[in-house]
Amino acid sequence: MRALALLTALSACSAPLSDLKDVDGAKDSDASPPADAGSVAADAGPGATGTGTLDVPWIHGAADCTQSTDPPIQVVRFDADTWVLRESKCINYEAPFLYLLAGTQRALLIDSGTTVQANRVPIAATVRALIPSLPLIVAHTHAHGDHIGGDAQLTAAAGVTVVGTSEQAVRAFFGFADWPATARNYDLGGRTLEVLPIPGHERSHVAFYDPNTRWLITGDSLYPGRLYVTDWAAYRASIARLATFAHAHSISLVAGTHIEMTTTPQKDYPIGTTFQPAEHRLPLTVAHLDELNAALTAIGPTPRREAHDDFIIDP
Ligand SMILES: [Zn+2]
Repeated sequence: MRALALLTALSACSAPLSDLKDVDGAKDSDASPPADAGSVAADAGPGATGTGTLDVPWIHGAADCTQSTDPPIQVVRFDADTWVLRESKCINYEAPFLYLLAGTQRALLIDSGTTVQANRVPIAATVRALIPSLPLIVAHTHAHGDHIGGDAQLTAAAGVTVVGTSEQAVRAFFGFADWPATARNYDLGGRTLEVLPIPGHERSHVAFYDPNTRWLITGDSLYPGRLYVTDWAAYRASIARLATFAHAHSISLVAGTHIEMTTTPQKDYPIGTTFQPAEHRLPLTVAHLDELNAALTAIGPTPRREAHDDFIIDP
């Protein structure tokens, strides 16, 4: 119950980003949302409630996690049918972001977080409190452990379908016939997503495009952090396809699933960091996707690490 009360408080939280920075004494050269973030707020629509932005004061760990009062998972309601959740860095340093999108017929949770135990991160109860009656589908950006940890909790919950995490299971669920070449539609009821295979970071990786928010959800393939690559050729081809896809759609922002960069260009927090008082903003843009695509083209077939201002290619 305590967790739900905290979640409610956090959901209602609309404190400006500057307040959080004051608390932490952090400097943020990137505090002003760019024009594209403003257009998201304008698109929230009549009757929508929520922040209308992803530039909210995200929980970001603590200097002493034994003293942290953060909830295990933060819930931000973006609009009436869209939520973004972030796990506490004091629970797991990966602190992934999860996306919850509701239509009229079903809701989709994209990723289930790092944590198996419901008494540590009650992901199933948290999501059910937000979506009390709609059938809930749980799919994943990809199969790494920090994105599928909550699957067992969700599998055990009523009215929940958890999509398998192998490439074969993902292909079968969404009906991909020519993986990874072509996107597939997935209808939530009045909200038809497009799901695009982008293997390379991990072989079953997909991106989601949501026409309501115009978000391109890119998981670990593009986010403000270290872009790890397990299959370089597949990753280069995937990012090229993703860039082509992005230019054929109206996109408000590119939404990844971690933050590892600081607000200092090209500088990341070390692996395992549990306190990020000056972390990069979550949303990236199509310009970042173009920058990544151009860099991969320039680097060529032999993998090489390359730091950019807002992400690091890290094969
Ligand atoms: Zn991953």
